Amino acid sequence: MLPRTRFLTDTSLEHLARRLRFLGYDVATHRGARLTELFAAARREDRTVLTLSARQPPKGAPVTVLRMPRGDLEAAVRAVVAAHLPATAPWSRCPACNVALHARSAFEARGEVPGRVTRLAVPLSWCPECGRWFWPGSHVARMNEWFERVLGRLPDAVDPP
Ligand SMILES: [Zn+2]
Repeated sequence: MLPRTRFLTDTSLEHLARRLRFLGYDVATHRGARLTELFAAARREDRTVLTLSARQPPKGAPVTVLRMPRGDLEAAVRAVVAAHLPATAPWSRCPACNVALHARSAFEARGEVPGRVTRLAVPLSWCPECGRWFWPGSHVARMNEWFERVLGRLPDAVDPP
C-alpha cells in the first residue's frame, strides 16, 4: 500500500501542484518561501517537500524531500503518482486553493454558472476560498485525456465530491 502523502511546494512548481490537486493530492503552496522555510514548514505540518532544488535539508532534520525534474511536467506527475496516494478523490479539491470543494445544488448555482450548465443537471461544486464553481465540462474532459495519456489510465474516480 502506497503512503497517503501530503505535499508542500513553492510557486516554482505551481503548475505541477495544480495538476496534482486535480488528482486529489493535498499540495500546499508557500508563496515566496525560501527553501529553508519550506523545510521548516514541512516539518511543522508533516508534509513532503516537492522542489526543483538539489539542496537537501540539514542533516538530522526529519524532512522528506522529493526532487522534481525541471521542465518535465509529465515526468513529475508520474513520479509522484507512482509512489504516493492522493489525500482525497480526484476533482474534489480546488486546483488553485487546495481546499476541499463543497457540493452545491443547481438552485444555489443559479446566476453563478451558465444556465446551460445548470440545465445539464451535472454535479456542481464550489470553492469556499476563491468562490470559483466547478462542474464536469470540457475542461475536465481535456484534463482526464491528459492524465490518461501521461499515466496510462484515468484518475481512479472522476466522481465529484
Ligand atoms: Zn479556490
